[in-house]
Amino acid sequence: MSQPESITSLETRTRPWWLRIPLTWQILIALVLAIALGIALGAGRPSPANATLITNLAVPAELILKALRALATPLILVAVLHTFMTTDIPGTAGRRLAVLLLTNTTVAICIGLLVANVLRPGTWGALAAPSNTQVTEPSLDPWDLIKDAVPEAILKPLVDNNVIQLIVIALCFGIVLRGLKSEQIAQGKTAYQPVEDFIGIVFEAVIRILNWIIALVPLAVFGIVAKTVAQRGFAPFKSLAAFIVVVLVALALQACYYLTRVYFGSWVSPQKFLIGGADAFLTAFSTSSSTVTMPITFEILQTKIGLRESSASLGALVGANFNNDGTALYEAMSALYISQVLGQHLDLGQQLIVVLTSIVASVGAAGIPNAGLVTMTLVFTSVGLPTQYIALLITVDWFLDRCRTAINVMGDMTVSALLDGKKPRALDEG
Ligand code: ASP
Repeated sequence: MSQPESITSLETRTRPWWLRIPLTWQILIALVLAIALGIALGAGRPSPANATLITNLAVPAELILKALRALATPLILVAVLHTFMTTDIPGTAGRRLAVLLLTNTTVAICIGLLVANVLRPGTWGALAAPSNTQVTEPSLDPWDLIKDAVPEAILKPLVDNNVIQLIVIALCFGIVLRGLKSEQIAQGKTAYQPVEDFIGIVFEAVIRILNWIIALVPLAVFGIVAKTVAQRGFAPFKSLAAFIVVVLVALALQACYYLTRVYFGSWVSPQKFLIGGADAFLTAFSTSSSTVTMPITFEILQTKIGLRESSASLGALVGANFNNDGTALYEAMSALYISQVLGQHLDLGQQLIVVLTSIVASVGAAGIPNAGLVTMTLVFTSVGLPTQYIALLITVDWFLDRCRTAINVMGDMTVSALLDGKKPRALDEG
């Protein structure tokens, strides 16, 4: 989802100096300090005298995860409402866009699940179990999910963090509000405006709080890495390294899928797509934010690749609000990885639930750094995986976020190219 524009500049101006150090550097410094502390505390052979201190090192990560879980549902709700209220999606092109987005995201998740099922990164090494881990029985089956799709009360999905019910509510209100707005505009009325403004303000507020929490991520990384090294030494990081490799393989396959679709479904050659899109991919990789990259994506699609403005804006501006294939792939793989680490088998039905919730979770993910971690809590909860394990994933998220953001942007560009069709713009005039 897009981020309201005013936020970044305002927050940058009011930040203290240490927060102006780029987040990646803060995380890398936290990693180094944490490893040093972990070694000082025993590196796998901790002294019993330090047991309480070591356990409590995980407290910042636990608090951050709780806050992320609490924010996930309001974020998805207001983000969907905000997009419906503020973006103009023309009829037929809108339907095509929806089909393309849904297919691409589903393929991304299937690639992620396939790679994770075949390579099984969760079995490559032992990962430390976080404290307070509650493993809930993953007893859900897809039919329960359908039977459970309509909430008993409108606010219940927000309280229960029930992602499917939430999306039903968000879509219903989003579609109705959009319809009411169009009717009012046709009648020359403006009564919809305060509602639109209210949703915009709530959206800004949620994103701003999210930014506070993300600013604390280095602290969580410090605590969790120091605790892990102190208690278990370096063995658990082998497993995380395996996870990184496997996610990269899946993201590379998704990139190949995009190029194949571009080759068969548009006039753009994969080579032109890659060379013309380089600026956008690099910006996405270096900023970890598809929202920040959005203007560049829009620009290069027209100037360097040569797409029509309508296709560029539908894919890179409108589609980008819903389209986070890299995030969806990552969230599904994380769930499967942690289930493998736990030895908690997810059967086909449960993996289907992962597919559905990952689609929703990726739609609700803001286009800002680490946003995937927020909605990932919902995917984990839906199949009964302990969300405490997300704290361990935070330690590698600073890198994987960059990679999945580049794929998110590549996905938006692919949609634009496909919408542009098989006839180049140059032939329109001829
Ligand atoms: N950083 C990603 C983006 O901006 C979202 C995520 O965290 O997955 O697209």
